[in-house]
Amino acid sequence: CGVFGIFNHAEAANLAYLGLHALQHRGQESAGVVSNDRGTLHAVRHMGHVADVFTQSRLEHLPGRLAVGHVRYTTAGGSLPKNIQPLTVEYRSGAVAIGHNGNLVNAESLREELESEGSIFYTNSDTEVVLQLMARSQERDWVDNLFAALGRLRGAYSIVMTSGERLVAARDPHGFRPLILGKIRGEHSHSRYGKTAWVVASETCAFDLIDAEVVRDVEPGEILVIDGDGLRSSRLKPQPRRFCVFEHVYFARPDSVLDQTAVYEARVHMGRALARECPADADVVIPVPDSGVVAALGFAKEADLPFEMGLIRNHYVGRTFIEPKESIRHFGVKLKLNALPNLLAGKRVVVVDDSIVRGTTSRKIVKMIRQAGAKEVHVRISSPPVSSPCYYGIDTPTRSELIASTYSIDETSRFIEADSLGYLSPEGLLDAVRLAQPERPKRPVLADEEDPGFDADYCSACFTGRYPVPMGSVPRRQLRL
Ligand code: SF4
Ligand code: MG
Repeated sequence: CGVFGIFNHAEAANLAYLGLHALQHRGQESAGVVSNDRGTLHAVRHMGHVADVFTQSRLEHLPGRLAVGHVRYTTAGGSLPKNIQPLTVEYRSGAVAIGHNGNLVNAESLREELESEGSIFYTNSDTEVVLQLMARSQERDWVDNLFAALGRLRGAYSIVMTSGERLVAARDPHGFRPLILGKIRGEHSHSRYGKTAWVVASETCAFDLIDAEVVRDVEPGEILVIDGDGLRSSRLKPQPRRFCVFEHVYFARPDSVLDQTAVYEARVHMGRALARECPADADVVIPVPDSGVVAALGFAKEADLPFEMGLIRNHYVGRTFIEPKESIRHFGVKLKLNALPNLLAGKRVVVVDDSIVRGTTSRKIVKMIRQAGAKEVHVRISSPPVSSPCYYGIDTPTRSELIASTYSIDETSRFIEADSLGYLSPEGLLDAVRLAQPERPKRPVLADEEDPGFDADYCSACFTGRYPVPMGSVPRRQLRL
């Protein structure tokens, strides 16, 4: 999912809407903006893409200088209208709205506990647990209630909230999912709230669109409270950093800078490292668009081979992987990609993608490239094999559906009918990420003791199977209510 928040801007809802456009790749099932006009909340939330959800007239119904927004794809709870975020509830101190990216690993047990004590849940999203915990807290101020609630959560959350005349941004102590603080200067920000308009978003590409400047990452475990008195920062109990390395591999947009890492640069380095680790005798390098493009560029540069767009993507059919329905996913590949015989016929082709999940896409792509006349097809993947599901907010399928959980690289290569298959090593992946961190204060790289190939600062559980936060209970994908 993607989250956005803005404080103290005359065009708050419009900018939230624009910000969500830039975050659309993080979730395509539903979108919502809740504006806050001096403590009164107004909501527009619907299933569908940002461009379809918000019309001019709907945006006009979102007054106020504060807004929070959310784009959703389901990792816990069903893909249902009632789960659309930001969730809003009437709270004893006024209405409150929350948008959440990530997945709580103890949501089920907290929910059972709350239900046994009499709580009634409206949604089946793990996010509602946060609101229910807040309502139980005895502190007077809602932000203190939030502190109490966050102390009970385990797992991944990057949260934006608004209530009263405040915007709050919070990130779990491991910092699994990104969350960035920015600001906008200018006339529009002069108000009783001060001169600065503050923004928070999942990715910096949302700031670029609205001319906001990046201030810094919201730190893991940090809770930022933004109101007329300015910006205050508090911390939850520190935990080891565990930023999701898959954000760098696949999920984030390449024009974003997250975790003080330029995602584009990181992907070029991944491609270069892949070319060094798994070279191929070939005539041309092509990407699987869009997710493989930047790594393929890096591969072609390092291997000194021509780079061509041998597969053309239809941009009007969304990211089919993320659509929850199996039927659409299968159909999706041809709908999405077409191979160019002029570029591929008679060639030995290297095709670069960011990851293999089920293997079904890769299999179809290899077939498509052969049908276009390629002599050989060498598949290169700019991350290690995905062998374990994610419990922290990326919608990987269950373990049994992950091809790398059951098959070796050779078996996978045969399954996808490639002439060869090569993956980037864990070491190569983390080195590539570090090479793209010019601003990060140099500090010793802490190797993960059990798995020295990985950096202890990162979560890489989907590649290693070692989870930094143990699963309390696997989220019920779909509750029947
Ligand atoms: Fe990211 Fe993988 Fe960890 Fe999930 S398991 S947070 S996708 S690195
Ligand atoms: Mg892809």
